[in-house]
Amino acid sequence: MQERLRASFYTLGCRLNQAETGLISNSFRERGYEIVDFGEPADVCIINSCTVTEQADSKCRQIVRQVLRKNPDTFVAVVGCYAQTGFEALQQIEGIDLIVGNQDKMQVIDLIDEPAKRPEPRIVRSRMTRAPFTLPFYGTDLPTTRANLKIQDGCDFMCSFCIIPFARGRARSRAFWDIQREAIELVETGIKEIVLTGVNIGTYQFEDKTFMDVVRMLLSIPGLRRLRISSIEPTTVNEELLDLMADSDVLCSHLHLPVQSGSDRILKSMRRVYSIREFLDFVERAHQRVPDVLIGTDIMVGFPGETDADFAESCRMLTDTPIAYAHVFTYSERPGTASTKIAEKIDPRIKKQRSKAIHRLSEQCKLAFYQQFIGRTVRVLTEEQDFEGRWLGFADNYIRVAIAEPDLQENQLVLCEIQSVDDKGIAIGKLIGRNGNEISNS
Ligand code: SF4
Repeated sequence: MQERLRASFYTLGCRLNQAETGLISNSFRERGYEIVDFGEPADVCIINSCTVTEQADSKCRQIVRQVLRKNPDTFVAVVGCYAQTGFEALQQIEGIDLIVGNQDKMQVIDLIDEPAKRPEPRIVRSRMTRAPFTLPFYGTDLPTTRANLKIQDGCDFMCSFCIIPFARGRARSRAFWDIQREAIELVETGIKEIVLTGVNIGTYQFEDKTFMDVVRMLLSIPGLRRLRISSIEPTTVNEELLDLMADSDVLCSHLHLPVQSGSDRILKSMRRVYSIREFLDFVERAHQRVPDVLIGTDIMVGFPGETDADFAESCRMLTDTPIAYAHVFTYSERPGTASTKIAEKIDPRIKKQRSKAIHRLSEQCKLAFYQQFIGRTVRVLTEEQDFEGRWLGFADNYIRVAIAEPDLQENQLVLCEIQSVDDKGIAIGKLIGRNGNEISNS
């Protein structure tokens, strides 16, 4: 009997890439492939790439070489964002067999008739369209707790530092009915939390359906316990969403709003379409309107022309507002983006210092936010156990909680009282209820 072909997957980058790799690996399983862990011997290895920074590009090249060193006969396909923008560089790496851009990557299985090594890579990079899309969903090999649900792709905002519109194309939305179909199937398989993902999800538009229609539709699905919005552009969030978040037990009180800088001068140079005053006013309104809301952000350091004064404004924005954490990104010059034309580049040592400073401030903000919940009850979805046997998971508002109750199971919604915050920035929860399906925070 012919042995089953084996496929392995490696994902670089964002939550959207993770969601897409999940769907791609399902398509291989449906074709009879055995899915093996990355690093195991495999007939085919798919690397779902990222190009948001130069480091992401070089990491992808490193992973390719690692695969080929370990298994020189493996059919190697690089798909996604770096395949889209960096195919010429990838072509130079001996041993890559297939390079597939973002328009075609979800169907990569159809591009591999016989996983035999090729003398040179086949390149498939169809023009990316703006057409609405649907996604194959096989209902197998699913995540077991929180499921990423892709609703949108591409972006029209064209921020001056960002390569994503070049890698993923212009904004386009998934068919409304297709989102509904996948979400219902996810809930039927036992998923309790769905996380909405895309590139610029707030710009979702399918026929007359907007982002808010998607949120309301998902909230109406029986059995869905939590709906979380991943990163969303500040200018695409409206008051109606805050009202829904304030009144719903399902819509998680968590907003990740990338601000990028605390300086209006730099925001202008980044071509961001809001002032820091407008951003902070919205954060304040969200904080007033949605009890216990946790607001996170992204801050970029080292953008060309960023002075000490500009950077100080980013720091002040963190310390003077109820923002609970900031992911820090170091500016990385991306080919074809408008910011490459700005002359005043920042010294890498200064970039490093600023990155460390924002990271430190973010840890302080997070600790201060978490400590407000000591003595309070939160609902937590158990995801994994740490080496001490504690169950780890997130509260509705994205506080990371550890519960020392070894007999809990994965994917359980439980109630616990926050007792303290440990030195790793994790809230310590004492179990007070094993059924959190109906009850929210208090
Ligand atoms: S909104 Fe700006 S930073 Fe975000 S993906 Fe679009 S262009 Fe990039």
